[in-house]
Amino acid sequence: MDKRFDKVIKEINRGKKFLAVSHVSPEGDAIGSLLGITLALRSIGKDVTAYLEDPVPKMFDFLPGAETIVHTLDGAGAFDATFAVDCGQKERLGKGFIALKGPGSIINIDHHATNDRFGDVNVIEPDASAAGELVYDLIKAASINMTLDIATNLYVAIHTDTGSFRYSSATADAFMKAGELVRIGVSPWEISRRIYENYPARKYVLLGMVLPTLDIINLDGGKSIAILAVTLEMFRKAGAEKDLADGFVNYARGIEGVEVGMLLREISANEYKVSMRSKGGVDVAEVTGYFGGGGHRNAAGCTLKGSLEDVKARIMGVIKEKTFATEKA
Ligand code: 5GP
Ligand code: MN
Repeated sequence: MDKRFDKVIKEINRGKKFLAVSHVSPEGDAIGSLLGITLALRSIGKDVTAYLEDPVPKMFDFLPGAETIVHTLDGAGAFDATFAVDCGQKERLGKGFIALKGPGSIINIDHHATNDRFGDVNVIEPDASAAGELVYDLIKAASINMTLDIATNLYVAIHTDTGSFRYSSATADAFMKAGELVRIGVSPWEISRRIYENYPARKYVLLGMVLPTLDIINLDGGKSIAILAVTLEMFRKAGAEKDLADGFVNYARGIEGVEVGMLLREISANEYKVSMRSKGGVDVAEVTGYFGGGGHRNAAGCTLKGSLEDVKARIMGVIKEKTFATEKA
């Protein structure tokens, strides 16, 4: 028996009215895990409110249950317990959640090593490829029937957080769980088609403006850092929403000899959301942690204020000092 979820299952049995939440700027794992737990609890007769501060990106709006996600908790009343999934810090659940008076017991289910254990119950497994893997384990431990709708959400969580099963996080467990979800009826091609073969053309218009910003900074030892930037002006010109820049950071990391790729995304005047991707030699969660952000060893993020040049210089300062300095020593 899987003992890790004993306390969680007690909370499920005890409660009737639940809240499920995940982080701001939600991606596949946040949304898939949120809907996975939401649909599972609803299937056993619980009343579940699924909440995200930010809108669901269009590429994920096909997920079963996505149409039931709410973006305000005004007048929501009190809950018996709240499931927070794929989120390392309470603040990242958004202002609406922080302002909520009655979340009940907070059940924190996550796979970020930087998770600060903000829950009353915490199931934190950095070895899990996605929070969706933990929701999968919970559903099994609680003997809840894995419907096709739940399976679709959990497959997307695992699929997206492993970079389509390409990253080091794609463990045998991740493949086995994904395999089981496919056996239940999930179609990998249908999912890939919905997510990766359905981009609005303006994403490419935006990419055309972003690629010329490529800045490669050579460091000692033959390693380099590649930085791409996307400004408010580019979003405006392309008529593109902010989330259309998702994935662009991979073009930076994908370059030969590049150890860390970055995308600096202007989210308001002189404020940049930074996405970092490492090939493994540099722990980028350590770098973003320095700026109050977090994430994983190979994928992390933070937000910085200042001009583009200033933000770049500050990040490069930390990368040079913290990471490569220790390696040289
Ligand atoms: P992305 O670059 O795709 O936004 O994020 C990569 C990883 O870093 C994800 O696991 C995400 O949850 C985490 N992350 C991104 N931005 C932040 C942030 O501002 N704070 C923290 N704690 N984690 C972040
Ligand atoms: Mn995740």
